[in-house]
Amino acid sequence: MAPDIPLIATDPRAADALSRVRVLYTDLDGTLVAKGGSVLADAAASPSLVVAEQIVALNRAGLAVVPISGRGRTQLRELTQLLGWDGYIAEAGGIIVHGTGLDFQERVDLGEWPDDVAAPGLSPFETINQVRAAETLIEAFPGRVEHYAPWQLDREVSLLLRGCLDVAEGQAVLDTLPLPLDLVDNGMLRSYGTLTCRDMPPHAYHVVPRGVCKARAIDLDLAWRGLSREQAAAIGDSATDLQMADAVSVMTLVGNAFGSNGVVAGLEREPRDNVWRTAGDRTEGWAEFARVWRAAAG
Ligand SMILES: [Mg+2]
Repeated sequence: MAPDIPLIATDPRAADALSRVRVLYTDLDGTLVAKGGSVLADAAASPSLVVAEQIVALNRAGLAVVPISGRGRTQLRELTQLLGWDGYIAEAGGIIVHGTGLDFQERVDLGEWPDDVAAPGLSPFETINQVRAAETLIEAFPGRVEHYAPWQLDREVSLLLRGCLDVAEGQAVLDTLPLPLDLVDNGMLRSYGTLTCRDMPPHAYHVVPRGVCKARAIDLDLAWRGLSREQAAAIGDSATDLQMADAVSVMTLVGNAFGSNGVVAGLEREPRDNVWRTAGDRTEGWAEFARVWRAAAG
């Protein structure tokens, strides 16, 4: 438990910073949605309008919300359209899209990859598969990592895995491959699938082109929208979400984030002065943030 993170609802410094915020980048799983994935539920997954009421209020106030998630493009487009928003960031920062209709615009970010790294005719996802990144991790950590079925399919920029990995150890294995790749911890899962590890909760992991991350995607998106870092906030629950603090003025962690080893280690490794927490978990924490933001933004 990292004790020094102030509550968003009671810190005047947060209210001051939020008064200038016009766009919120929100993680989905473990943050905007309840256990099981519903947005129409409280933190314990019972039916509730706690988040829906705040979404409507933010939309009425003209405050923009951009989902940013490890999920793929199709999943993000459907959710963004349903909730009345106008853009989204998919695959852990690799795909940035404005618009949910047929006239959408997109930017694909390949991080630090040189232009000629992807083989002709292959997507970045296929290029990562060509060097056997998933297979190499699975062989190095038997029983501790697997494809996160069925969502590992239909992807363009990143691999999606499930496992119980030390990220530094997994990264060292990826570093033996002839392609610059990063291993990203995208937070805790509820199901082990066919994993045999039981010494830590299962996590979702992404293998991305080196440098691709949520913070970098927010930088690109803010520039595209003509907004500054001072006009942006982010909310999430995982170690990779915490890095969004580099790109926004207000970073908020929902209460359940503090159950993640990666989040606590990240806070201890790199103290930051622009991170706040909610008292509530998941949807209830999201609604708590939204109420504070609306009050501060006037
Ligand atoms: Mg999450």
